[in-house]
Amino acid sequence: MAQAAECDVVIRAGWLVPADEDRTTITDAAIAVTGDRIVAVGTRKELAHWQAGRVIDLPGAALMPGFVDGHNHLFQALAKGLGEGQSIWPWLCNFMWPYAMEMSPSDARAAARLGAVEAARSGITTIVDNHYAPTDLDTTLAVADAIEDAGLRGAVARGILGRRSEVGVKRGQPEPLYRYDSSDELAITREAIAARPPGSRVEVWPGPVNLSYLDQDLMAASIDLARELGTKWHTHCSEGSKDPDTYLEFYGVRPVEWLAREGLLDARATLAHAIWLDDAELDAIAAAGAAVAHNPTSNAYLASGSMRLGDMLSRGITVALGTDGPSCGHRQDPFECMKQAISIQRLATLDPTALRASEALRLGTAHGGDYTGFDVGRLRVGALADIVAVDLSAAHTQPVHDPHSTLVNSAVASDVVLTMVAGSIVFADGQMQTLDEADVIAEANEAAHHLISRNPALAGVS
Ligand SMILES: [Zn+2]
Repeated sequence: MAQAAECDVVIRAGWLVPADEDRTTITDAAIAVTGDRIVAVGTRKELAHWQAGRVIDLPGAALMPGFVDGHNHLFQALAKGLGEGQSIWPWLCNFMWPYAMEMSPSDARAAARLGAVEAARSGITTIVDNHYAPTDLDTTLAVADAIEDAGLRGAVARGILGRRSEVGVKRGQPEPLYRYDSSDELAITREAIAARPPGSRVEVWPGPVNLSYLDQDLMAASIDLARELGTKWHTHCSEGSKDPDTYLEFYGVRPVEWLAREGLLDARATLAHAIWLDDAELDAIAAAGAAVAHNPTSNAYLASGSMRLGDMLSRGITVALGTDGPSCGHRQDPFECMKQAISIQRLATLDPTALRASEALRLGTAHGGDYTGFDVGRLRVGALADIVAVDLSAAHTQPVHDPHSTLVNSAVASDVVLTMVAGSIVFADGQMQTLDEADVIAEANEAAHHLISRNPALAGVS
């Protein structure tokens, strides 16, 4: 018999899915946590010698790593339910950019708080938030605070736009969207990173908004800033079907090809969407060790396209899942994203093995951890204790033959019963443990109401 060992918390559950390479399932499982780290994982019997300050018993639940939302825009949470029935570019021009221009700092903060609560309740422990409205220093840091105050971790990729490029003019982007010149963008981002440097619970990264229309010099300078300060960087990459063609027309090169040619594509890159890529671009991403965020629900909702997921995974590319914010899917639901990713791949390839449930679960967790650089996304000894418990005892999740399949194909976000981040319980017993949820919802509703009364056309676009 093993010698007694002490820890802070032991959680026991019916199943544990560590999201490892072998797609292991442990039944009658337990996990031990001390401080912010996992100290033991195994069967309940194997962990019997652990003496815990607190024991949580969830026999009807499965434990899994916290989800990583690899691409979000929390500021969009006040526009849930609006902007229906448009493809990506008209949606941006007619709806999202006018909404973004209407946002006040307090609106952005209220939206981020609401979105962070939804994320925590859905089992998301890490958010990469591409924040682009408004992007003054205080608001950028307030969004980071909102994520941290909810108890979550992540990164705010501060949206960098600079001055409107020729591509932006041609594609009809509104001039008022562009508030800062390049040097101001870089200076504010530098200051925000200084306030939340690498290693912070919520970091700040440069987020040059979109590779397909951003000024090339500013794109390069944003990446240089990430290299200088040791952060990752984040951008939208060939989300719209016309993005590569427009880029080719202006610059004579495809967007990712340009990044690679200039030596800008690197392992710090987190590329959102990455739908319309050719083989050479996929090879370049793989060679650089760059990572991608796949946003299946948004890609379907905005009719953007189906990503070449199989071609990425076979090249060894890290592919996180993202919700793309509350306006592009109207729910920050990682379960929906996993299932949508499967459906889209199977429909696009007519291959029922295109993405298996266990692989989809690894995209939402282990790949997400690699994508962000945080030691999360796998339940293993030494990793950060970002742990989620999903109740599988309801009619829609019974019987459980294979927990991977049940979690991906049957469970929904509201089945999450416990969310732990770095060893602290953020959501349990049906309520947030970190803040007053009713207050957050009331504040967001009031902000949303005022915002729409300032620009009623936003509610009319549907
Ligand atoms: Zn996006």
